[in-house]
Amino acid sequence: MTQRYKTVLLFGAPGAGKGTQGKILGQIPGFFHLACGDVFRSLDVNTDLGRKFLQYSSRGELVPDNLTIEMWRQNIHAQTVLALYKPHADLLILDGIPRSVAQAQAMGEHIEVLRVIHLVCPDLDKMVERMKRRAIKENRLDDAEESVIRRRFEVYDRETRPVLGHYPASIISEVNAMGSPAEVLQHILETVVPVQNTHFHNPLAEG
Ligand code: ADP
Repeated sequence: MTQRYKTVLLFGAPGAGKGTQGKILGQIPGFFHLACGDVFRSLDVNTDLGRKFLQYSSRGELVPDNLTIEMWRQNIHAQTVLALYKPHADLLILDGIPRSVAQAQAMGEHIEVLRVIHLVCPDLDKMVERMKRRAIKENRLDDAEESVIRRRFEVYDRETRPVLGHYPASIISEVNAMGSPAEVLQHILETVVPVQNTHFHNPLAEG
């Protein structure tokens, strides 16, 4: 087996703030952030895969596992070829993937999951509000309608939540997602910095 990418998963229900936190972490040297939803949204809607994405996401459903995994694999490979992601130097922060147990199984040969950060937000109404605000700000069709948002939560409970059971409880850290972005970031860093220190050299130490 070739070396697997050393990875931290950002996990949680839609609207929990994975994207917000992932983007911030991705700005720090030694971290590389990849959001599966962003990769899908960057597809040309005139391609087969772009059309498939719209078809599923507009209903609040997951894109089929085989298409998702294949797209993810090609994308992460391209990032390494372009040296945007350097697996020997960067901790990979994945957000929005794996989103089903089948995806977690398929990714096992590519990623070594060192930590799962589970962003927990018990207040469903608050998350729905966040998503509606984001839909307007980011022009996201999938979150513009409350019925689609509710459907996304059902899909999360049925297909995505069980992914937590795929990983040992000892590597799962729960973080309260209800605080301010800075507060949530602080808690995530408390968990992730020791992982980075254990597995990588300080990216700026050697110039
Ligand atoms: P959020 O940030 O609100 O959780 P994302 O931007 O991650 O949402 O995903 C938007 C949509 O893209 C999903 O509803 C789904 O249709 C599709 N999608 C993203 N990641 C995956 C995945 N790993 N598997 C299948 N579909 C996905």
